[in-house]
Amino acid sequence: MRLVEMEIARQDWKGMLCGCGGSAEHLARDLLQLAGRGSLREPSHVSLEEHVWSPAVLWEPAPAVTSVALAALADDVAPTAREWFLDLLQRMVAGEGTDSESARRGLDLPELCRGLAVQGLWLLYEEVMSNQSLGGTGTAFEILTVVEPERSRLQCVREIAADWLPVCCRTGLCDDDLRVLGR
Ligand SMILES: [Zn+2]
Ligand SMILES: [Zn+2]
Repeated sequence: MRLVEMEIARQDWKGMLCGCGGSAEHLARDLLQLAGRGSLREPSHVSLEEHVWSPAVLWEPAPAVTSVALAALADDVAPTAREWFLDLLQRMVAGEGTDSESARRGLDLPELCRGLAVQGLWLLYEEVMSNQSLGGTGTAFEILTVVEPERSRLQCVREIAADWLPVCCRTGLCDDDLRVLGR
């Protein structure tokens, strides 16, 4: 068993309410399939929209999914799976709201996800610096623009990685901070 399977196995999916209205149990299988560690033995895409995220809200399993995505980055999943997990992680940190059931319990799911993603800061920097794919590099950098509290570090990496970052990241177009500053 590797990191991503371990992280999927240790979450209490059964006890979480999924965005589809049922138990989140099916997410364990979906995430294994994304990672290429399910019965198919190779990564195959499955959308978690309306289960874990929507444009408006995140649902209860979002923090657990954030942890799994970070474990996947630390694991050696296939390049396509890496990009899917980066996309998923970006959905989690960019979440704007919390489903009403979780909000009633006092949870702020986007905030919880961002708190978890900060713990994977150096994994994300490694993803940017290793320049394995334009999509993955840009997504990792955009996650950092949301979660990195040390803005000067982000700026240094923006300069070092300027040759291979997508233009929106290089110029700061996708970075709220810089947009506000009018750069
Ligand atoms: Zn569901
Ligand atoms: Zn960008």
